[in-house]
Amino acid sequence: MTSQGPQALQRSIERMLTEANTRMAVGKNEEASRSYHKAAQFAEQMIDMLAESDQRRAMSVRAAEYNQRARTLRSKGSMDGGRIKPVENHEADEVAYSDEEADALEQQILLLIDDSPSRVDWDAIGGLETLKNELKFHYGLAMAKAPEGVQVEGWNNIMFYGPPGTGKTLLACAVANKLSATFFNVKASQIVSKWVGESGRLISTLYRVARKFTGDGRPAIIFIDEFDALCKSRGGEGQLYHQQMLAAILSEIDGFAQKGRRDLVMTIGATNRPWDLDAAVLSRFERRILIGLPGAEARAEIFRIHLESKGIPVDHRSLSYTRLAEKTERLTGREIARLCKEVTAAMLGEMNPDIPALVDAGLQRIQNYEIKVRALGQSDFTRAVERLVPDTGEAAALRYADWGKALNESNRA
Ligand code: ATP
Repeated sequence: MTSQGPQALQRSIERMLTEANTRMAVGKNEEASRSYHKAAQFAEQMIDMLAESDQRRAMSVRAAEYNQRARTLRSKGSMDGGRIKPVENHEADEVAYSDEEADALEQQILLLIDDSPSRVDWDAIGGLETLKNELKFHYGLAMAKAPEGVQVEGWNNIMFYGPPGTGKTLLACAVANKLSATFFNVKASQIVSKWVGESGRLISTLYRVARKFTGDGRPAIIFIDEFDALCKSRGGEGQLYHQQMLAAILSEIDGFAQKGRRDLVMTIGATNRPWDLDAAVLSRFERRILIGLPGAEARAEIFRIHLESKGIPVDHRSLSYTRLAEKTERLTGREIARLCKEVTAAMLGEMNPDIPALVDAGLQRIQNYEIKVRALGQSDFTRAVERLVPDTGEAAALRYADWGKALNESNRA
């Protein structure tokens, strides 16, 4: 990367902004709109040249803002109301859009970037040790240098399946964190309902924007939760949009595989209903990985994580994570987290009965009050654990394992 490029572009942006202001000041709104539009184009060119993903994101937001101003001024200034011409695009898949549409889609995509992976490390995930190592190994392979003439393939597209709340999202976040990847968090059903009729285009834009973010060698991870929502055969218009979105995702995944170049855009799908995915979908994912209910050892670890990572004191003479784990069979990580929260809240209520009165006494009183805590013991959990009814029934848990077995058998056949 030359340092001249971004600096020259920055100067061009500033020139266009000054020009836009001067034109606006004398009421030439249409011309000012063109200046903003050019500023946006320069900003877009600059995105690829910036090293840091934060800077690229900030620049994308600026580009979108200039485009927005251009649109506002154009609609104020233009009397002819004609359709906006398509902008000159860098990639073929943009050609069909007007600049307005492309902007709106890109803005929507930028909103999908999620910073939460930076807070998720492997040790925030209880259990799943073998899988964590496998993920490290295969994503490591995907990122490492292959020797001359040797084709090494790591994992680019994988699908997690299993009951809700077992850590699928956490795992995707930890992978993204360790690879310093830009994380696009997509909830399939939300995208379809928000972008009725546009979800296919939105997906092409998503992958194009994700590729832009890989300019500095850092990968981008597209996490598509509720993948099954795209495969349900419900019929009607909604179904059509789901299919458009699904077709766009599959063609993006295929397209890159075929080009045979290192693909820094990786897709991680997740589903609670793997049986709704058809063979065409499943075949696109190199691995389908069951994230099942945690075993006793993992549950003990999840209890430890959810109490100790929050600094809640624990009386280890009375409270044993192993004993808690024995009494909480079939609980998911999410349910254990909820249980820890509930028990902690009960302890805080007992230790701090004056809080409501202090709130009534005014902001200063409550701000000066220091919350009292005491160590949690086994008895704090006893009643809460007795009341528990696990969300995942035995039959449901078995269904995941059976589905996985059948899939492996049919793959072997
Ligand atoms: P869904 O299928 O409903 O999207 P999921 O499998 O993606 O669920 P996560 O979002 O990863 O589940 O987990 C939900 C919450 O449950 C986490 O934020 C965390 O608090 C807790 N949790 C789940 N699994 C674990 C785990 N293995 N270790 C620690 N915490 C966990």
